[in-house]
Amino acid sequence: MADRYLRFTGTAPGRFLTRRLGLPQPAALVRWSPERPCLDGDLLHLTAGKSDLDLAGTGLSLTASSQRPAAVLLDATGVRDVEGLDEVHAALHPVVRSVAASGRVVVLGAPLDPDDHHQAAVQQALEGFTRSLGKEIGRGRTVNLVRLTDALAAESTLRFLLSPKSAYVSGQVVEVGDGRGAETGDGRIAAPEDRDRPLAGRTALVTGGARGIGEAVAETLARDGARVVVLDVPAALADAERVAARLGGTALALDITADDAGERIARALPDGLDVLVHNAGITRDRRLVNMPAERWSSVLQVNLASVLRTTDALLASGTLRSGGRVVATASIAGLAGNAGQTNYGASKAGVVGLVRSLAPRALAEHGVTVNAVAPGFIETRMTASIPLFIREAGRRMNSLAQGGLPADVAETTAWLAHPASGAVNGQVVRVCGQSLLGA
Ligand code: NAD
Repeated sequence: MADRYLRFTGTAPGRFLTRRLGLPQPAALVRWSPERPCLDGDLLHLTAGKSDLDLAGTGLSLTASSQRPAAVLLDATGVRDVEGLDEVHAALHPVVRSVAASGRVVVLGAPLDPDDHHQAAVQQALEGFTRSLGKEIGRGRTVNLVRLTDALAAESTLRFLLSPKSAYVSGQVVEVGDGRGAETGDGRIAAPEDRDRPLAGRTALVTGGARGIGEAVAETLARDGARVVVLDVPAALADAERVAARLGGTALALDITADDAGERIARALPDGLDVLVHNAGITRDRRLVNMPAERWSSVLQVNLASVLRTTDALLASGTLRSGGRVVATASIAGLAGNAGQTNYGASKAGVVGLVRSLAPRALAEHGVTVNAVAPGFIETRMTASIPLFIREAGRRMNSLAQGGLPADVAETTAWLAHPASGAVNGQVVRVCGQSLLGA
């Protein structure tokens, strides 16, 4: 599983050799740790166009000038014409080189105006700009675009993207609503009382939580204060119990494809559920010409049918209560397609369809948001079993030239599960280091 190439390029001879040969030079990414919860340095605030956005309430400590910013927040919500795009260039051109390694560029855009094609054109232009800058910026730095109307509703998103937690999220466009329908208490999207344990008092269930990405998700949600339930197949019960015991949670042995899985989860959680993470997934790869019906349907059953069924059952029974969060797991294979994975690609694209259709209704009728993470190449047992050369190609074919870690998917899930993320709904967020696949 270890990325030896990344370690080699971190040494002086490795750097010399790979530069001479024109090989990828991945930077060691800075990730969240208790010792390093925030980016180290200034958060430079720039503006292009005339903006009405009020960032003051977010509590972000912004500065108007910095020699070596750890992050740049460019407010381009007021860009309405091509001249405004010139201001984007004028703002970022002089500072981009000075952004620290593993730093962040976050561009703020406005929703596309259906009645103003000039505004829509230049706001869409920000997407092409963001994705292109992400591909060229290098040194472990990331570039993302957030479309928003209300800075407070986007606070949890901005904090995530401007932190070490989003190390492997780049080239993404996230749309944040105004938060209507997702308010708490005083009618606003409130920050949790304890910023270090935002999920305190909440219960989270992670399917396939006994190992891999699911284990990391359970760990991260427990770190954020949630009481976790680690669900996995009966054959993995010992592992699920080990994970649950370490996190002070409980294990639930259940094959998620069982017809009554939703009812059994509801019975196991009489006090209700706040965060449902659909992580369990399998692959049964074969080209379509060689794929027997059993391989096809087992993948569709685990990756898609069970997600549809349990989500429906837990919403209908009221187990998933108001303020709840559903985070499903798609894949870049579901966005780009992948040879040998017609079954898997179909199942993961199905997850995207589910999220987009259900999200507005689930929020309106149940007060629950529905989003998906779409991992790229993540260093797990699943990817360790890929043959060497294909594995090496998969690892490097992204802007950060390396695979992600289970913790990267877990941090993204934790942001979507955050009590203050109620305005983030119906989004599919890739955790792929800006993979070249399906870009
Ligand atoms: P993994 O195989 O390491 O873990 C999957 C877990 O799901 C296992 O513990 C397994 O026992 C459990 N599981 C499988 N079928 C189940 C069922 N019927 N009921 C209950 N539990 C079941 O996989 P991973 O690499 O950690 O992947 C986790 C998720 O992320 C999957 O949905 C996968 O498709 C997705 N994903 C992974 C990658 C990657 O690079 N690893 C990339 C894209 C998407």
